[in-house]
Amino acid sequence: MTLPALPSPAAIDGEHPRNPSTRIIHTSLAHPVTFDYEPPKDGSHPCQWCHNFTYGLLGLGKRTVEVLDFGNGRYIEVSGGHVAEGHEPSRMCVVCALERIHIMRCAAHRIVHLAGYQVDSFNFAAAYNSLVPIPGQGPPKKINPWCSLCPNPAFFGCSALQTVNKFQEPVNASSRDAIGCGLLLCERCEGLIHAARGDLAQVIMENEQRDFTFGSRADATYLLPGNDMYQFYIGS
Ligand SMILES: [Zn+2]
Ligand SMILES: [Zn+2]
Ligand SMILES: [Zn+2]
Repeated sequence: MTLPALPSPAAIDGEHPRNPSTRIIHTSLAHPVTFDYEPPKDGSHPCQWCHNFTYGLLGLGKRTVEVLDFGNGRYIEVSGGHVAEGHEPSRMCVVCALERIHIMRCAAHRIVHLAGYQVDSFNFAAAYNSLVPIPGQGPPKKINPWCSLCPNPAFFGCSALQTVNKFQEPVNASSRDAIGCGLLLCERCEGLIHAARGDLAQVIMENEQRDFTFGSRADATYLLPGNDMYQFYIGS
């Protein structure tokens, strides 16, 4: 893998507080989240997003968590969090982070139908069943594309021409990498995004107002301007 031509991650001083404040967040992840996780070669502790596609969709379940906010994208759970329940803090590898940054940097999404996926003939039951792990068979297998904003099957995707790939390397216009930023949308979000004139934050807000628990993906926030992951790589 070529290292991304991005500014180096902002120095994160871990527990050195910059006047940490206590606040309440709604989250399905375990904090503090690592955004540049390097998985060991032996496969023992993989990136949770790479390892299991349902992790980014559902996370560990939505919680209202009191956190210490260090003002640098890093939260320490104080009460109500997943770490206290025995979960390991969430860990995202650089590639998964760069995929999200690539979507954020798309100049203007151009949303088209995904070839081969029609709402009318789609087996929704099979798709939702595929989210449920089968005991003894490892992580669930992805059998269809999923929305980048909510935990529903995707039928649309961005096809806007890109000048760089997710590693920020220049791509030829004729290359496959040049087509689309990676944003995928379900039928509902595709409708909302048109109404919101492309404002993903508004779509996510509407989704969460409709359904607090399952309205948005666990990691949807990492596509929004100024999010913790983006700040970690690029700064605010
Ligand atoms: Zn990953
Ligand atoms: Zn796009
Ligand atoms: Zn959606």
